[in-house]
Amino acid sequence: MEILRSVSELRQWSREQRKNEGNSIGLVPTMGALHAGHASLIRAAAASCSHVAVSVFVNPTQFGPNEDYARYPRTLEADCALAEANGASVVFAPSVEELYPAGAATFVEVEGLSNRLDGASRPGHFRGVTTVVSKLLIAAEPDRAFFGQKDAAQVAVLRRMVADLRLAAEIVVCPIVRESDGLALSSRNAYLSPSERTQALALSRAIRKTEALAASGQHRDAILIETARQILAAEPDIRVDYIELVNWATLEPVETAAPGSLFAIAAWVGATRLIDNTILA
Ligand code: AMP
Repeated sequence: MEILRSVSELRQWSREQRKNEGNSIGLVPTMGALHAGHASLIRAAAASCSHVAVSVFVNPTQFGPNEDYARYPRTLEADCALAEANGASVVFAPSVEELYPAGAATFVEVEGLSNRLDGASRPGHFRGVTTVVSKLLIAAEPDRAFFGQKDAAQVAVLRRMVADLRLAAEIVVCPIVRESDGLALSSRNAYLSPSERTQALALSRAIRKTEALAASGQHRDAILIETARQILAAEPDIRVDYIELVNWATLEPVETAAPGSLFAIAAWVGATRLIDNTILA
């Protein structure tokens, strides 16, 4: 597996592939510690693009001062093996200095949306995400970029960014990959103790209950949110960050669930913050 380290190498690689008519470039941005959720994105990219770049970069600007940037898992060797096995052509693994050159003072921010959901509890988080993803899109010039519905608010912010900047890449959203017991895969699941791991199942339980209520005709925000809150409240080490029913495009709260509404949960399980969501049918 070829590992590219500089923006100019990535751009050169992308332009080289494009010289052959019919070739297309897929980009899968990640922070590494790759798992089956990332693998599903890479496979989707390989299925629809002739060449796939997977970026592995723990982006410092999307972490708050008291968050887990320093201890975030870094497993590049295993990441390259997983990327290759799932159809990636190259891995882009730049240094922090490569993506943020000395004196870097340019940021990309989607106003409004960036202060909703995770953006409300993690100030500056989405500004870091939009800044790094725009750098990656400008460098790789992909036809399509692949993201997980797991980070549904991130998807809304990135769709707005791509539309506003009139970027050429198409955003493709892939379903949430879960463990067999329902827990949404996350690199942060590695932080959970065995007891926390068990309690964390309350998130996916609450999501499934919400889906069942909505399917049975219960669309009121207050009832859906309160039911989920009670499921999470039964776990001693869980503290809710937010439970919201929103319009997926604007991230603004809605009182009545409609097809396409986003029901999203963020909760602390011990010291680990986990998220889960569903797009209601
Ligand atoms: P991360 O490395 O956590 O920044 O995630 C990189 C990409 O993988 C993002 O687009 C995530 O939404 C996606 N992703 C993470 N976990 C999952 C999952 N369980 N299922 C599907 N996609 C995921």
